[in-house]
Amino acid sequence: VARKRFGQHFLSDSGVIDEIVRAIDPRPGQALVEIGPGLAALTNPVVERSGQLTVIELDRDLAARLRKRPELSVVESDVLKVDFAALQAQIGRKLRVIGNLPYNISSPILFHLLPVADVVEDQHFMLQKEVVDRMVASPGSKDYGRLSVMLQWRYDMENVVDVPPEAFDPPPRVDSAVVRMTPFAAPPDIDPAVLEELVAVAFSQRRKLLRHTLGAWIAQRGLDSGFDLQRRAEEVPVADYLSLAQQAVATR
Ligand code: SAM
Repeated sequence: VARKRFGQHFLSDSGVIDEIVRAIDPRPGQALVEIGPGLAALTNPVVERSGQLTVIELDRDLAARLRKRPELSVVESDVLKVDFAALQAQIGRKLRVIGNLPYNISSPILFHLLPVADVVEDQHFMLQKEVVDRMVASPGSKDYGRLSVMLQWRYDMENVVDVPPEAFDPPPRVDSAVVRMTPFAAPPDIDPAVLEELVAVAFSQRRKLLRHTLGAWIAQRGLDSGFDLQRRAEEVPVADYLSLAQQAVATR
């Protein structure tokens, strides 16, 4: 039986599973790491192609079942407590992180992985479709917001598969999608905490012009920048937020 508190919705549609595995394209020798393998719906076809796999599972009973499989290296833990940099150092290759994530902690998982993006080759995650829409949104779209900016400066992202509730057992109440996240090799040199702060201020009132929200923040720091404040937060490209964050760090 599925445990609700662990966000357990097990994939059951073999066509959808096939499509996801094709999108991941696992190969032998790669450092594949799966978050929340559950009953191994995704684990089995992946390990068939890769030969071995590291899995991170919090549910004690599920972890015990998985431990019987010699081709799996089982980490029984809360994924939010896993040190991915240490895991990468141990495996000795950039990680390919995959998983049909527990939706109740999907944002915390994304932000746990953000600071270690340099040890990651790519990530393929099943998430709520609505969250994926926000991750990949462009300026001017209603979905463009804090999540878009906080992830798009670090990852190239693409919605690769849409998945309906019927593909799971039990079905979640929402539509799902698989997103591919590929960290940029040479990300801009910024302090994510500063970016987070300015994006929070900018999007605090997304309908207002930025001079009413971000104006004071910029003035307090003596930044001028030619940053156009006659715009709404949702119209400003990621690159503009980045250059402001870079200036803010420089004047600290
Ligand atoms: N991968 C399986 C599938 O597609 O059928 C299961 C996906 S289910 C949505 C989420 C899985 O994550 C469950 O197996 C659950 O026990 C596990 N899980 C929940 N919270 C977790 C956490 N904090 N750390 C690691 N695994 C967790």
